[in-house]
Amino acid sequence: MAQLRIDTVACKGHGLCFFGWSQLFDLREDGIAVALVDQIPPDIRQDVEDAAAACPERAILVVEEP
Ligand code: SF4
Repeated sequence: MAQLRIDTVACKGHGLCFFGWSQLFDLREDGIAVALVDQIPPDIRQDVEDAAAACPERAILVVEEP
């Protein structure tokens, strides 16, 4: 199963992920995104991919497990 990761160096804290998909992301006090899920079940895969596409910094990563 694929995993949801945040590139905390690339993330600039715009918050688009949190405001659009609050079931998947939270924001740290410094504004950097935190993933609320680790493994990505198939039923939320599209939401994750939509959020990743919406991130202007490409900081939302879908890591495929081997
Ligand atoms: S949309 Fe991207 S850059 Fe903005 S807070 Fe979320 S992960 Fe970070």
